[in-house]
Amino acid sequence: MKINICLLYGGKSAEHEVSLQTAKAVIKALDTNKFAIHPIFISNEGKWIKGPELLGPIENVKELEFQNGGVEVGPNALSTNLTPEQKGSYDVVFPLLHGPNGEDGTVQGMLELLNIPYVGNGVLASSAGMDKVIMKNLFAQAGLDQVKYVSFIRSTWVSDPERAYHQVESEISYPCFVKPANLGSSVGISKCENREELADAFVEAFQYDRKVIIEEGVTAREIEVGVLGNDFPECSVAGEIVPKKGFYDYESKYSDGDTALIIPADISDDQYNELARMAVKAFKALDCSGLARADFFVTKEGRIIINEVNTMPGFTPFSMFPLLWKHTGVEYPDLIERLVQLAMKRHEEKQ
Ligand code: ADP
Ligand code: MG
Ligand code: MG
Repeated sequence: MKINICLLYGGKSAEHEVSLQTAKAVIKALDTNKFAIHPIFISNEGKWIKGPELLGPIENVKELEFQNGGVEVGPNALSTNLTPEQKGSYDVVFPLLHGPNGEDGTVQGMLELLNIPYVGNGVLASSAGMDKVIMKNLFAQAGLDQVKYVSFIRSTWVSDPERAYHQVESEISYPCFVKPANLGSSVGISKCENREELADAFVEAFQYDRKVIIEEGVTAREIEVGVLGNDFPECSVAGEIVPKKGFYDYESKYSDGDTALIIPADISDDQYNELARMAVKAFKALDCSGLARADFFVTKEGRIIINEVNTMPGFTPFSMFPLLWKHTGVEYPDLIERLVQLAMKRHEEKQ
């Protein structure tokens, strides 16, 4: 019996296009002797479109939008999607989605209700990992070293912006980073050197979220570690991101050539061991399962600071997470199979 795997991709987020590239690569990597591939495309407007079973790789991501031959369905299609001779629901769902409504626990909650195994983090880890303030509070409790941070909700800022700026200046000072609490891909993030930039940055960040976080800016290398597993997570080698300009913003994340990925990162064994220890601690602090990418700042003095954990890291074959595992000895198709197994195992253990 083949495993009926449903791929959910696209989505209403800034990473819609990236998600399509990921879907294309995952389809190519899945062994069709083992898997029956059932695609569901989520459009930019949030429509769910179910395509026919895919029998092999596709040439162009446009084919994954099913402009012809697709059937518009809703999220409930997940439970009743297969033909009568197949089982009533998918064996496993792989949400290849990033950001809000994909990586934040919402889709995961729906899959829990439908009682279908799914790849990646559960509801709690996904939602805690999407909110940078909650995530940092959990890291603090786990004793992980981090930059100083404060946070504001929109209504407090609107009622007294001067007070908010004053608090940032007294507790954090400049340079600082202002971020929407609930996004990824560097969307809405600004680096500020003075009060004027700070005020602009608040306006910008509040366009995306009702909550913002302001962090102390550090000058540091950016080093990332992949984590894979459920109760016994394992770490990949470390990789370094070298943005060619400013910081690792949206543009440099998604335009080729603007950022170099160095794998493995040039760090000492002691540093790697500490990064791996902290990555597992962060994974457990959020109660992650399946996969996560732990991102760190490493200063010139050797201080290792956790920046964030991404519960659905970029997953094209050229993204950091799969490349880290490739260098650790786990090729892309094997990585996908490992994730499917971990999803099934978590589901069994819950029953
Ligand atoms: P996202 O979840 O959108 O990736 P991050 O918190 O990772 O958000 O911030 C994006 C990028 O901004 C980081 O990769 C880094 O280059 C820069 N950055 C963010 N916070 C800081 C900070 N406190 N100090 C220095 N650089 C930062
Ligand atoms: Mg992130
Ligand atoms: Mg990041």
